[in-house]
Amino acid sequence: MKTLAALTATGLAAVLVWTAANAAQTGVPASAGPADPALIEDLVAANRILYREGIVDGFGHVTVRHDRDPNRFLMARSLAPDLVTADDLIEYDLEANPIDLDGRSQYSERFIHAEIYKARPDVVSVVHNHSPNVVPFGVSGEPLRPVYHMAAFIGDGIPVFDLRERFGDTDMLVSDADRGRALAEVLGDAPAVLIRGHGVAVVGPNLPYSVGRSIYLEMNARIQAQAMALGAPVNYISPGESQAVLGRGENRGYERPWEMWKREAMGP
Ligand code: MN
Repeated sequence: MKTLAALTATGLAAVLVWTAANAAQTGVPASAGPADPALIEDLVAANRILYREGIVDGFGHVTVRHDRDPNRFLMARSLAPDLVTADDLIEYDLEANPIDLDGRSQYSERFIHAEIYKARPDVVSVVHNHSPNVVPFGVSGEPLRPVYHMAAFIGDGIPVFDLRERFGDTDMLVSDADRGRALAEVLGDAPAVLIRGHGVAVVGPNLPYSVGRSIYLEMNARIQAQAMALGAPVNYISPGESQAVLGRGENRGYERPWEMWKREAMGP
């Protein structure tokens, strides 16, 4: 008589064989496996933090690379960020194909994330948002520049991606691989790229960075507009000063505010 463990192992082997056969038949790659529960918890928290900080509303999204496979990333199904739970997360490959969609609807702009991950091996997390004070700098020709130390990561400026230059009159969405690739080209090695008439994509080496940069980019945009409205020339943080600030570690790795944001979003 087989033991329970042996039966379970047999069942697991059968599932693996079935999954592999199914993947071969459909062309859908097999899953990288379950992600680190701590990473999933942080991705859920990131969605809710961005809502609470006014960076996303019912729209916008945040993703993170899978901890088991750098060619995969995790993203919620099409859902308002504040409503995202662990059950809503979908694994994607870098062509923005879902591994197991299971009938769920997807964000049309998932290509922003996929193409940035493809182009930037250093990037582990991407936020896309339409935060209101950032948008004017994508349409006015006025460069977004660092006005205070908390946004020193802006450095010598944030590039602006204009869909019109390559695609003519569009619906303004970065909703396919060609548009995503063009966006990633303009991003280059910057920490963010403005999208003209739309919003911004912000990147980082982990979730606290992409979320923290999104928050301080929005604050910097508001403060910069206030400083410019005073009428006198603005004394921006210089590229040399930005480098000196970043040399101390960018906002202490966002560890201190991250714990606070997370507690506010998720409870103690
Ligand atoms: Mn958008």
